Amino acid sequence: MSARRRRVRQPTPELRCVCGHQVRRYWRHCPNCARALRWGDVHDVTGAECFNCGWIVSDRFSWCPWCAADIYEEGISSEQPLKAPKGFRMDARCDWGCGGGVQYPMSDCPWCGRWQSCNEDERFEGTAPAAAAGWTTG
Ligand SMILES: [Zn+2]
Ligand SMILES: [Zn+2]
Ligand SMILES: [Zn+2]
Repeated sequence: MSARRRRVRQPTPELRCVCGHQVRRYWRHCPNCARALRWGDVHDVTGAECFNCGWIVSDRFSWCPWCAADIYEEGISSEQPLKAPKGFRMDARCDWGCGGGVQYPMSDCPWCGRWQSCNEDERFEGTAPAAAAGWTTG
């Protein structure tokens, strides 16, 4: 028992895998059936999805934070790292000090494209046992 209560982010009811298991936003796999999940821009928040993985991105990003694809577009992507472009929030600063914001559980910085180490817990939770045993995407 602790006097300090941590806010636990609960999955909202609409976030379910096709198998019916509740999932959290940006989990890569369903922990129940190991199906690969795709988080596209279904609500038309940013108007942009990664050409490679199909996940929601900001058109301000230079790199896809989910699959590390180069999504830089001249004149559209931000020249300067931003903290939280529309549709995203800043949970932490980039590990590498580029000055940009990173939202959990992004695996790569959307601004400098470098690997982020600060979200191991989220990453672990979102990984199905089958995935840990060598299950591959695509
Ligand atoms: Zn499932
Ligand atoms: Zn991608
Ligand atoms: Zn960075």
